[in-house]
Amino acid sequence: GSVIGILGGGQLGRMLSVAAARLGYRTHVFEPAANPPAAHVAEKVVTAPYDDAEALRAFAGGVDVITYEFENVPTAALDLLESLRPIRPNRRALAVSQDRILEKDFLSGIGLTTAPYAAVDDDESLEAALAHIGTPAILKTTRLGYDGKGQARIMDRSDAPAALAEMRGAPAVLEGFVTFTREVSVIAARGLTGEVAAYDPGENVHVGGILSTTTVPATLTPGERTDAVLLAARILNALDYVGVMGVELFVTAGGLVVNEIAPRVHNSGHWTQNGCAVDQFEQHIRAVAGWPLGDGTRHSDVVMENLIGNDILKVPAIAREANAALHLYGKAEARAGRKMGHVNRIRTSG
Ligand code: ATP
Ligand code: MG
Ligand code: MG
Repeated sequence: GSVIGILGGGQLGRMLSVAAARLGYRTHVFEPAANPPAAHVAEKVVTAPYDDAEALRAFAGGVDVITYEFENVPTAALDLLESLRPIRPNRRALAVSQDRILEKDFLSGIGLTTAPYAAVDDDESLEAALAHIGTPAILKTTRLGYDGKGQARIMDRSDAPAALAEMRGAPAVLEGFVTFTREVSVIAARGLTGEVAAYDPGENVHVGGILSTTTVPATLTPGERTDAVLLAARILNALDYVGVMGVELFVTAGGLVVNEIAPRVHNSGHWTQNGCAVDQFEQHIRAVAGWPLGDGTRHSDVVMENLIGNDILKVPAIAREANAALHLYGKAEARAGRKMGHVNRIRTSG
């Protein structure tokens, strides 16, 4: 087939569409919001809510395979789409990553370390969870959180009622606070025939819960680097995964702790666009289209910086920098906290 369907038309969908076009594929994007970033590059955009069965059917009818750039696609929409076309990565990967409790159950079930956690839905379960986990801790909604939204820190037991109120009645999970020396992520891919490839881990700095920079190479011991890549491969194999995944890790004195997984291309993998012959977007398209995985060897050191909100005003200056590759998402309005683009600064040749 030659048309790839993408659920979600944000910047990730846009960059997937560019990569698909470079490999000779056309893309159709399904996106509830009007005029999404991917609309500038996709052949077709279906603008409809995820509960519009007719629109979903029409979308599926026009594509050969379906992938996604957004993990919170409603279950009913997936049931319908899955009956019509293959969805890659598969449903289980989505289900697991949509729910922080299922995710941690899955990760600990395959022998990986997560933060200590407990389900919370009221004062009583929060009290019990705090008695078990202690403080400091973080209360997070189990579903739909991103960029640190839907999270409240509990430094002291007295913070508990306010933290619970911030969940607005949604099911939540209490996580013990992990004392980490740094945060890294592994962007890994698995092909249709089961081959696995991983990019060099990147070191991530978050500001206000939002990714600010990713630096490669990360400061890791050789043992940590190996562990990071092997645990990512274990996750992909356990899920019979096809596509690219982002695995967020905390580096601690006691080893690597998995924070969360994202069943899609990942912001912390944007450096690959200028650090590797085959970037994460092409790698994902290769995997879902059944191609062999490409060469993701890092040929350069890179620092990726997100351009968030008013950072967009820095673009004229960045445009004059040497060894700086700009990637802008074509969003009209620069709201606070909104990802407008990123710049990959190539530091050395490796
Ligand atoms: P995104 O999906 O955009 O990466 P998110 O909303 O799912 O973000 P998390 O990754 O859960 O958020 O948390 C955001 C950041 O908060 C983490 O990258 C880390 O810096 C910090 N954090 C989250 N959970 C913990 C924890 N248990 N211990 C220590 N720090 C944490
Ligand atoms: Mg997340
Ligand atoms: Mg995260």
